[in-house]
Amino acid sequence: MKTECEILIIGAGPAGSTLARELSKHAIDNILVQRNFNFKKPCGGGVRVDAFDEFGLDKKYIKKDIHTIILAFKEKRISVDIHENPLAIVERREFDSYLRDEAKNAGSVVYEATFIDVQIQEDCVLSSIKIGNEIKTIKSKYLVAADGVNSKIRKMINKDQVPSLMTNYADLNSLACTDCEFHFGEEIASKEYAWSFPEANGTNIGTLSRGDTPYMSNFENSLGVDEEHKIYGYKIPKYDKALFYKTRVFFVGDSATQVLPFTYEGIYYAMSSAKILAEVLAQRCEPDEYEKRWNKKYLRKFQTLKKLQQIFLYNDFMVALMMRMYQSKSIQEKMIDLWLRDRKVTIDFMFFMRLLVRLLTSRPKQTS
Ligand SMILES: Cc1cc2nc3c(=O)[nH]c(=O)nc-3n(C[C@H](O)[C@H](O)[C@H](O)COP(=O)(O)OP(=O)(O)OC[C@H]3O[C@@H](n4cnc5c(N)ncnc54)[C@H](O)[C@@H]3O)c2cc1C
Repeated sequence: MKTECEILIIGAGPAGSTLARELSKHAIDNILVQRNFNFKKPCGGGVRVDAFDEFGLDKKYIKKDIHTIILAFKEKRISVDIHENPLAIVERREFDSYLRDEAKNAGSVVYEATFIDVQIQEDCVLSSIKIGNEIKTIKSKYLVAADGVNSKIRKMINKDQVPSLMTNYADLNSLACTDCEFHFGEEIASKEYAWSFPEANGTNIGTLSRGDTPYMSNFENSLGVDEEHKIYGYKIPKYDKALFYKTRVFFVGDSATQVLPFTYEGIYYAMSSAKILAEVLAQRCEPDEYEKRWNKKYLRKFQTLKKLQQIFLYNDFMVALMMRMYQSKSIQEKMIDLWLRDRKVTIDFMFFMRLLVRLLTSRPKQTS
């Protein structure tokens, strides 16, 4: 068994596997460790289709193409045509396994093993992993925590947990759903959203919940769900400030809180952040270059979306204003630009504020 490498990566989700693959392409010696090859990450599986081109991924793993998204609030529904920039639905067990295989094919050494412990030395990192019934030590120059929202490495190294929010979700067979639906309102997802996404076999629904309010049952009632089903809970990172590096350990993906506020899009940002880190390591830059490059690319977008979420999802009154705003095709276009077209496009916060003032000072159009 290989017990020495330059970069040891813990966690083979989209972040870890993308990092391993990119490092191998740059001929950087790496080991990728994943606890359970059969793990299925709880996830809506929505990724923008053009991410497949950006990361050179095979589109045969797309289970469904989504050409319309629905924004819903109480009885109001707005259809937004995204056929020029469609979304893909992937099945996470299959998608993660494919990404892991891609890393292996590129030259990464991949182990099914569990990270247990770490000792940071002056010139290296010694990590203990459990492989079968044996505990092995792997020596590396750097360790990468790509171990998700419950990151054990973050708890050990940064002495904190990933800031997060609990989601409730369920897989349903009887509910027909062909578009990705985003549902808003204080009763079903206060300050957040609830979703209904098609999957390979049926529909995945869920809500980003807080506190004791029965958001999930309120949401199910609003959808008219009457099928017997199990409700699961899983955390999702709530971006505040990303964590990038500490004492020979890099953080990427959910462990770093790199999930876009408002939309909670995490798959793309896990892969993209991994690519930024791979380039920094390949170019032998100082570790803080990772944070600099990430901030240059994404900080403004993350901060602005966080502010927009705080304002537009503050309460039902603000959600109603947001829905009025999204009736306009030109605002829909702006949203698609920001969300699905150019990742580099900067969000003009003041544009939304001017619009908000206009909406607050104008009367709603009468609808028949
Ligand atoms: C209910 C729900 C719905 C979501 N829907 C969407 C969506 O539709 N679209 C979207 O873009 N994002 C969505 N997300 C967010 C998305 O799933 C994450 O942001 C994304 O998976 C982050 O990738 P990652 O590689 O950082 O972490 P993960 O995908 O969580 O991968 C971490 C890996 O590390 C492994 N691991 C953990 N600890 C250890 C250990 N000690 N040893 C070895 N291995 C370990 C885990 O088994 C896991 O495979 C959703 C999240 C939730 C909870």
